[in-house]
Amino acid sequence: MRWTDRQQTLLQAMGLRLWTPPGDAPVVAPDASPAPIVPPVAPAPPAAPAMASPLAVPVAAPTLVAPSPAVPIALSPHPATSADSLDWPALRTAVAACRACGLCETRRQTVFGTGHPQAHCMVVGEAPGEQEDAQGEPFVGAAGQLLDRMLAALGLGRGDGTAAGSPARQVFIANTLKCRPPRNRNPSPEELAACRPFLQRQVALVQPRVILAMGRFAVQSLLDSDAPIGRLRGTVHRWHGVPLVVTYHPAYLLRQPADKAKAWDDLCLAAELLARPPQP
Ligand code: URA
Repeated sequence: MRWTDRQQTLLQAMGLRLWTPPGDAPVVAPDASPAPIVPPVAPAPPAAPAMASPLAVPVAAPTLVAPSPAVPIALSPHPATSADSLDWPALRTAVAACRACGLCETRRQTVFGTGHPQAHCMVVGEAPGEQEDAQGEPFVGAAGQLLDRMLAALGLGRGDGTAAGSPARQVFIANTLKCRPPRNRNPSPEELAACRPFLQRQVALVQPRVILAMGRFAVQSLLDSDAPIGRLRGTVHRWHGVPLVVTYHPAYLLRQPADKAKAWDDLCLAAELLARPPQP
């Protein structure tokens, strides 16, 4: 992908470095060396016996991971919600009807997620806010606009929720919680656990090449880790074999614009993984 003059101006105005795919004229940060794969953080004791920790997947070699999982993602069943056999329409219906936690009492509607159903890149955020609760779409408020601008700078967009368009150019966006917590409070561990099977099934259906986990609750839900984002970002983790890049949540970036450059580095790392040819 080549940067247009407008994109370069925009990114430079934001204080962000440019990203170019391998082969193009490099305009990259000084330390553009491939990020090492970190061995998974020691997993916390499993909350539910039947659910394997995503971090239990061993990482064999200290090289960058292949962008495609070698085998389709198959997830262990969750005792509370058997979402693991649902297709897209059935999953959407199950989410809309879910009453697994108290958030069903206060939501206006569930927010399922949107984007290309086979997107190469899957973005995972936290939970719907007021506007998402009203519109039924993820990331439609100010944080979503920032997310869209950052994705657009990489040539990515959210698509229209159908298989139209290129899965390489359109992301799938989902949240860890499908319902808005009242007054946008933090998700509780119980709410995250109740909603996790839906997110797991979404990832299993999309089969992304890269997951971008935005913010601490996405990280908690997917990596089962309480470590701060600053410690987890900059390396490639794995979720059930899928490369996973950790970055700051866009809402945090709106409050701490100085960290936008780091988030941009994280997106560049995800883009580097996406640009690698899938392994057979
Ligand atoms: N923040 C999120 O994490 N998700 C949304 O959908 C909106 C804001």
